[in-house]
Amino acid sequence: MTAKSSTQSRVTIPAALTVRELAELLRVSPVEVIKRLMTNGVMANQNQTIDYDTAAIVAVELGFEPEPEAAAAPEPGAPLVEPEEEPDDPASLKPRPPVVTILGHVDHGKTSLLDAIRKTRVAAGEAGGITQHIGAYQVERDGHLITFIDTPGHAAFTAMRARGAQVTDIAVLVVAADDGVMPQTVEAINHAKAAEVPIIVAINKIDLPAANPDRVKQQLTEHNIVVEEYGGDTVCVPVSAATGQGIGDLLEAINLVAEISELKANPNRPASAVVIEAELDPSRGPVATVLVQRGTLRQGDAVVVGETSGKVRAMLDDRGRRIKEAGPSTPVVILGLEDVPEAGERLRAVADEKLARQIVEERRRRREAQEQTQHARVNLDTLFNEISAGKLKELIIILKTDVRGSAEAIKGALERLSTQEVKLKIIHAATGPVTDSDVMLAEASNGIIIAFNTRIEPSAKKRAEAAGIEIRSYNIIYQVLEDVEKALQGMLEPVYQTVVDGHAEVRAVFKSSRVGQIAGSYVTDGVVRRGSLARVLRGKEEVAKGRCEGLKRFQDDVREVQTGYECGIVISGFDKFQVGDIIEFYHEERVS
Ligand code: GDP
Repeated sequence: MTAKSSTQSRVTIPAALTVRELAELLRVSPVEVIKRLMTNGVMANQNQTIDYDTAAIVAVELGFEPEPEAAAAPEPGAPLVEPEEEPDDPASLKPRPPVVTILGHVDHGKTSLLDAIRKTRVAAGEAGGITQHIGAYQVERDGHLITFIDTPGHAAFTAMRARGAQVTDIAVLVVAADDGVMPQTVEAINHAKAAEVPIIVAINKIDLPAANPDRVKQQLTEHNIVVEEYGGDTVCVPVSAATGQGIGDLLEAINLVAEISELKANPNRPASAVVIEAELDPSRGPVATVLVQRGTLRQGDAVVVGETSGKVRAMLDDRGRRIKEAGPSTPVVILGLEDVPEAGERLRAVADEKLARQIVEERRRRREAQEQTQHARVNLDTLFNEISAGKLKELIIILKTDVRGSAEAIKGALERLSTQEVKLKIIHAATGPVTDSDVMLAEASNGIIIAFNTRIEPSAKKRAEAAGIEIRSYNIIYQVLEDVEKALQGMLEPVYQTVVDGHAEVRAVFKSSRVGQIAGSYVTDGVVRRGSLARVLRGKEEVAKGRCEGLKRFQDDVREVQTGYECGIVISGFDKFQVGDIIEFYHEERVS
């Protein structure tokens, strides 16, 4: 990070604003803001609303001195309370364990692999090696801890992202060696790519006689996953969750990729964490597993999660042991929240419980205010506005089709519609109906869904409606292309410049029963053309705008009249000429 400049400019930031609005305030591109948010663990698209704290972090990083906008109508005794999260000094950052999610097709062994990895602890003779299911667990390999999210599959992974939480650092893609790449394998690849997390391939079930790891590697290349052996950069490990073969190698590979990623966090600050799962326990009350992302969470901390607060009464690790504190990348169960939070919500530790309750109150008010000004997400119809407002230069599409052939054909044709200015990115193309998972991916990536000759699952439809995700159904290819092309053309935002062609001075006004008024004029400079755009000036004032509908020399209609000649001029929709008016003739030229 560069040293702070002494000429910091102040910026007033409202309690909640969209990423795009923040970009405008800070005079940078929305992409720049999105990048900064990502490095701070916040996944947001440009239409998403972020709170003051989050916005302030970005502002500080960009050299601004943020200050909160005065609340619109603060209730007596309830000033804006939520303190901003201080950005970390790079010197305070310490390496942290990677957080890994296991993705892959159903029955390829995700759950078995998570079990096998968990068992390495028992094998390593760790005391209390038996893991409780809390939604995430840690294992150690060569002195390095690795955190695994215990809910396999990309649905959970993307659901978190759709809520703005980026939890995963590394995705392990499980492919069964006997079955090869299957539809959900492809889906998982695309979800991981959309989240921009590195992928490690685990070819599972190599104990089976039908195992064919080479075929898997070949199939993966078709989806742009090229393993090291084939000259690519994706680490690939053969494993068997059944026999335990290769599990150690997989852990080593994870450590290697983690090292390259240089994952860091500051442990010495109030904690912020993400809820992995939560439930209401009949005897213990709300119980939540959270993954600490920054800082250290301590027993006794006052915390805020979404719109609930509490005090960490007790903390348990993934072996059910009481612990007093948890640093970055550590999953912990916490007791003491007032309500059950939702997976994907962020938790932060604050000074005391009173403040925590005030923050919750404030968040509730903000949400209510915000709900009245909900932002629409991208859709083809409003795309042009989105773009002119936010300079959106990428249209993200998820494509579902009836048969593979049409997926390939539409994908290819759509991609060719990309221009230099606007990129069309199909982040997932597959056969089958539109599912919940597609909608979540669209939500997390701010994309639209195109359904070609395929149905939309009712739950996906409901989810899409609730989240404002557009699903467009088609059954004719050219209509897909036509619609997208039109939207893209709107995206191009042509810039026009006015070029003046000439002027004429009105010297006499004639009435005509047919056309209203004819201005007997003298061309003072340039040239006057029939059909040209024109404006009528009276002194400095523009009194009318129109088109030159009629142009006559004596009784003849002419196409153009040069400087120094007299002519009769008719301007569309204008019949209030006065002697002395100046008619300016111009055209518009596209400059970009
Ligand atoms: P998931 O749906 O991806 O979570 O897959 P599961 O972990 O439930 O595994 C599906 C099936 O494959 C189960 O019957 C497992 O016992 C079996 N299985 C998983 N891993 C292996 C393996 O390495 N070798 C063999 N032979 N079977 C496996």
